[in-house]
Amino acid sequence: MLKPETMFEKVWAAHQVVPETADTPAIIFIDLHLTHEVTSPQAYSVLRERGLKLRRPDLTIATMDHATPTRTSQVFGGAPITIDSAANQIRQLEKNCAEFGVELLGLQDARRGIVHIIGPELGITQPGKTIVCGDSHTSTHGAFGALAFGIGTTEVGHVMATQCLLQNKAKTLAIEVKGKLNIGVTPKDLILAIIGQLGVSGGTGYVIEYRGEAIRAMTMEQRMTICNMSIEAGARAGMIAPDDTTFTYLRGRPRAPKGANWDAAVKYWRTLPTDSGAIFDKTIEIDATSLVPMITYGTNPGMVVPINGNIPDHSGDPVFDAAMQYMGLTPGQAIKNTLINVVFIGSCTNGRLSDLRAAANVLKGHQVAKGVTLLVVPGSQEVKREAETEGLDQIFIAAGADWRESGCSMCLGMNGDTVAKGQYSVSTSNRNFEGRQGVGARTLLASPETAAASAIRGCVTDPREFF
Ligand code: SF4
Repeated sequence: MLKPETMFEKVWAAHQVVPETADTPAIIFIDLHLTHEVTSPQAYSVLRERGLKLRRPDLTIATMDHATPTRTSQVFGGAPITIDSAANQIRQLEKNCAEFGVELLGLQDARRGIVHIIGPELGITQPGKTIVCGDSHTSTHGAFGALAFGIGTTEVGHVMATQCLLQNKAKTLAIEVKGKLNIGVTPKDLILAIIGQLGVSGGTGYVIEYRGEAIRAMTMEQRMTICNMSIEAGARAGMIAPDDTTFTYLRGRPRAPKGANWDAAVKYWRTLPTDSGAIFDKTIEIDATSLVPMITYGTNPGMVVPINGNIPDHSGDPVFDAAMQYMGLTPGQAIKNTLINVVFIGSCTNGRLSDLRAAANVLKGHQVAKGVTLLVVPGSQEVKREAETEGLDQIFIAAGADWRESGCSMCLGMNGDTVAKGQYSVSTSNRNFEGRQGVGARTLLASPETAAASAIRGCVTDPREFF
């Protein structure tokens, strides 16, 4: 009988071109290379200098997201893009894709959006694939049972030239989420709680497989939120076994397999889940039933507390002390009721339709607090269209929010959507590092529900007060 294998081991074995040795990493084949305007220019320059072509342009796709404006007038050409570096990156990507024969979802393409949102939407993110992108949150695609991870600029060039990558095989970490999430507790709260428990380097060297009742009960969009933040625990990737929820999501997507190919694909995908009896290098358990909404207070996603909790006191720890100074918060203070200036709802973590629905559900019939800016940025143009069809945009606008075109926007502020120095932002994105949303910006990561409730009250608010 064959040795039981984890899902990661199956996907790895299916893509290993050359196994690793004591001296050299393995070489693995890459099924899908997602690219965008920020991490690809140097790689194209190297290809050009060395006279190389893309090995598999058919397995490569480009979108524009990180630096793109979110104001309609700028996206659709009525007004110039005001940041020179952003305009240069956009024009450079157009030029590179045309020269190297890469399909580009350009600035005005109806399918454009954040790279980790358009892959699933198009149906090119599929179970069992190896997927890479020059962006840390490529782990998002692991929600489909793909082995997906971020790569550096040099590696982007390697994949472009060879469609392969040098990789050391990761260890496996199972996170068993027991029980169901309570009402008002979201997948974002769960992943923040997991990172809080694991720490920001607790997943280093591992590929995480999220398992258990709470995970199986999630929609694909919710699973993507979970896998998206795997990197924030230091993990190489996060994966969730494909099941009927996965297949239902993918069926009929523009680039999902069709007809007999679909049947064959599903047959293969059903073989991917971890075999009974397979051994993980490490297993931890999380009790979903004990969780409440979570929010960060510091400068990494592991600095997180229950929304009705107090900031811990780790005074004397230089990382904690620096975080407290940067955030202008005090050890021991309750995080709830902290006054805020900005709320950002969007990003590849929480910029999907269900996230916007959840935020709109809280905001409906309310007004954003005086002095608070609420920016709502759909994760893709498709999400924007769907939200507008449902009238979600009207709920946001009526509440006093700013409703924008899709992009990464205030997740990292490369396009000019930034938080001012010293201001507090409740953000549905995935990183609260110093300066992430703007120089001196103070970011508190939370769910769309918490973000919306906080926008209404003008301070950190438990969203369950609105249910
Ligand atoms: S939304 Fe943020 S984390 Fe996601 S791809 Fe864009 S910049 Fe990266």
